Amino acid sequence: MSSNFETAKILVGMTVGAHSRTETGANTLGRWAHPIHEVASALRPRLNRASSGLSGTLLRLVLALLPLVLLSACSDPPPADPMLPAPVVILDIDTLRADHLGCYGYRRPTSPRIDALANESFLFQWAFSQAHSTGPSQGSIFTGLYPTTHSLVYNGARLPDSVTTLAEHFSDAGFKTAAFVDGGFMDPIFGLDQGFQHYETHDWKGLDTIGPRVIDWLRRNAEENFLLLVHTYDVHADYTPPEPFRSLFTEGITPTPGFEPTVKQLEVIRKSQARDQALQLPAADLAFAEARYDGGIRFVDYWVGRILDELQALGLDRRATIILLSDHGEAFQEHGTVEHDRLYAPVTHIPLLIRPPGGTQGKVVESVVQAMDIMPTLLEGAGLQVPTNLQGRSLLPFLRGEPPREMPAFSESPYFGHRRAIAWGDHHLIGALESDHIELFNFRLDPLELEELSAENPQVVSELYDVAKRWQDSLNLRGAPETEVPSLDDEKVKSLQALGYLN
Ligand SMILES: [Zn+2]
Repeated sequence: MSSNFETAKILVGMTVGAHSRTETGANTLGRWAHPIHEVASALRPRLNRASSGLSGTLLRLVLALLPLVLLSACSDPPPADPMLPAPVVILDIDTLRADHLGCYGYRRPTSPRIDALANESFLFQWAFSQAHSTGPSQGSIFTGLYPTTHSLVYNGARLPDSVTTLAEHFSDAGFKTAAFVDGGFMDPIFGLDQGFQHYETHDWKGLDTIGPRVIDWLRRNAEENFLLLVHTYDVHADYTPPEPFRSLFTEGITPTPGFEPTVKQLEVIRKSQARDQALQLPAADLAFAEARYDGGIRFVDYWVGRILDELQALGLDRRATIILLSDHGEAFQEHGTVEHDRLYAPVTHIPLLIRPPGGTQGKVVESVVQAMDIMPTLLEGAGLQVPTNLQGRSLLPFLRGEPPREMPAFSESPYFGHRRAIAWGDHHLIGALESDHIELFNFRLDPLELEELSAENPQVVSELYDVAKRWQDSLNLRGAPETEVPSLDDEKVKSLQALGYLN
């Protein structure tokens, strides 16, 4: 599947030169604002994979011709109508890391239907979430603001009413707005329901419950202009999709007798990281957990397929914009721990597909983008006013094939000394800005971020640190509503404990 996808896709946004500098101090970072350079380095791993049978001479020839190939891609006419009018369907797959999907190069067949969707979509190769956990990250997707600015900075806090959401804009403009979510930190008590005229929450029931409700709603509203959100925790721990998906990828793996990758079990590992004796899952248990996670993705893929089939049957595939994304990924001990409490790429590198009405020939955008860019993109696409206070930027220029305006992606955590991350060009700088502990990775060449590069690249560290610091200072200057924390009843506390975040 992925090899077909590789041959079908066209690289977009490759025009040399005309890209503008970013708003956040890009004058020191001109060296990273070269799309050709970025694309060439991004292609290297794929070329390496694809060229195992090539002679060295042929490989050199391919590399020598690469600039010409890229320039010829530039001459392709832009899509005739890049706008994204409503209806809009957002498939929001909680905890889905990008690199476990076939269309992002994964080794297991986790995602045949999502890969087929990617073949008709713009695939953003390097989209980063603004936080590592559900509430803050979903808050950014649906407000176009960084967590520090929208104030839902940690799970358990509430999105203040004073913040205006994507759904509020669509609802105010006369569109129908509906959401089918999987509870937890998407529960209305946390404020992410703002603007949805219909908001159904199904505590941890997943797509087997949510999917039929969505299909029923679509059948009743196929003629409307709407914004529809579908959210699920089906790939979140405990990694227990129904059979046959649960054991789809576990064959040949023999975990410790009795081992189950439950939140409770994973929390033992995660919480031990703060102690001197950090615990690790044994290799076979880790492999088992990851295989079960992958089975969950295949289960979600099945339901994505059913929803896509319904959209097609209703003619909505020609009329609707379809977005697939995630709020964060999941770690499997790449940096010692599990679940998602860090800002490394396995957790913050998310899938992002945008399928315009009628689809497009699969196109890959290599520029760094942010999850929260979705809100201004959809507002502009629907012809609605994009508020000037949004911190995300519209991705429509990428869809139009216009020269990319390169921007950094920022992520933040309220934990570990207020950790921050910036992804720009090829590099990801992660650390608490006030501390000496700053790490640097090349996410394009090393997507798992296993090789720490700060010692060899002090200049890159210094420049990215400078941009991150100015970003942080601008957030501090801007101010934000006070963080609100709703009081929870016993039942809600119990439901959230199942997610592993509340003690
Ligand atoms: Zn989440």
